[in-house]
Amino acid sequence: MQEDEEGFLYPNVDDTLCVECGLCEKVCQYINPVNKNTEPQNAFGGHISDAEVSNESTSGGAFSAIADVWCDDNYVIFGAETDGLKIRHSFINNKKDLYKFRRSKYSQSVIGNAYKNCKQFLSEGKKVLFSGTPCQIAGLKAFLKGKEFDKLLTVEVICEGVPSPLFVRKLDDKISKEKNGRINSLDYRYKDSNKWDYQVMNISYSSLHNPASGTIKCDRWFNPFWSIWLNHLMSRPSCYKCLYTTSNRVADISLGDLWGVHIYCPDLYNGDRGASLIVTNTDKGKKIAETILKENFIGRELDFSQALKYQGPMRKSIAENPKREDFMQDLKTMDYDSLCKKWAKRPSLKLLISKYVFGTNRQKVWWWNFKKKFKNK
Ligand SMILES: Cc1cc2nc3c(=O)[nH]c(=O)nc-3n(C[C@H](O)[C@H](O)[C@H](O)COP(=O)(O)OP(=O)(O)OC[C@H]3O[C@@H](n4cnc5c(N)ncnc54)[C@H](O)[C@@H]3O)c2cc1C
Repeated sequence: MQEDEEGFLYPNVDDTLCVECGLCEKVCQYINPVNKNTEPQNAFGGHISDAEVSNESTSGGAFSAIADVWCDDNYVIFGAETDGLKIRHSFINNKKDLYKFRRSKYSQSVIGNAYKNCKQFLSEGKKVLFSGTPCQIAGLKAFLKGKEFDKLLTVEVICEGVPSPLFVRKLDDKISKEKNGRINSLDYRYKDSNKWDYQVMNISYSSLHNPASGTIKCDRWFNPFWSIWLNHLMSRPSCYKCLYTTSNRVADISLGDLWGVHIYCPDLYNGDRGASLIVTNTDKGKKIAETILKENFIGRELDFSQALKYQGPMRKSIAENPKREDFMQDLKTMDYDSLCKKWAKRPSLKLLISKYVFGTNRQKVWWWNFKKKFKNK
């Protein structure tokens, strides 16, 4: 796999070694799309009962709740872990190490030997939980040649795309210059209980020369990363024509944020700890969701069509920003501050007032509960 000038990885065939068997094209999901599930789908919402795990997770900790129930004996769990700025797929065989996979890393993970290892573990009769983006799950299915395994549970994140890793590297360069340190961990959605909006970016850095390390926190609405990425200026080109941004899915289970929680299911609002949407796409997935609801997850079944309404990436792919090309040129040449000054939009005063003065979800849910109590009296 080789990085292109935008920082995305692509396969590169070494012609001197290629025997022209055509297998790489046969398993390429963009040439031969993988079948999506056609079983009835169900939606569930809520959060894991363990408050600490919920706090450590991106949404409501559904991933950990599922892993806990599925992995009883002789199991292996695959997921994306972080190593400084690098994100890669790896596996664990002890649930104590689940923390490595918790938290969304908003960058494409290097899949490495994960598919090969997964196949090997399945052939040894182990129970496998494989998590990743929808295209990674499709890649696994293609690698397994569509063969079904009772002992394999696939869990995908509902994904709208991955941004170029060059942007975060620019930030790392800035920290290197200004703080004489390097980023050693980056939590994109740190749950800071002192903030009204939990999507705070928390960056820790440390330096070999300077014993002092530190953290930088950046509020969601003032964070250039979110502004630039969510304006669709730096996603991977294939994400703009993603095959998986449809309601039918490839994995047994799809996990996302419970967007719209304050509108259609305020009873499931979990404050700053976040809430999860679980979409089950197979009978196997549904059974797991029903089990966690009995064991370690507080929530309930939702109306599937309502849930779909608030999940853009389950309906359509993101549209490429017409200025993407110009942004990418600047990303290659400008430093972090100049880049952000030119491309990141500051939040409007109207949005800030509506978020922080009148309309945070917390306030909306409080108002909803107040009205409900009043009606009951
Ligand atoms: C790139 C990306 C884009 C996303 N976009 C959306 C979106 O538009 N709307 C939405 O509702 N939800 C989106 N999500 C999903 C959401 O952020 C949470 O990951 C999901 O709700 C699970 O949260 P949790 O609390 O259950 O699990 P957590 O404990 O936070 O578990 C994280 C799970 O995500 C996997 N994961 C983390 N980073 C990566 C990565 N880089 N590549 C592959 N797998 C990864 C882990 O293996 C683990 O299974 C996205 C996630 C990613 C990684």
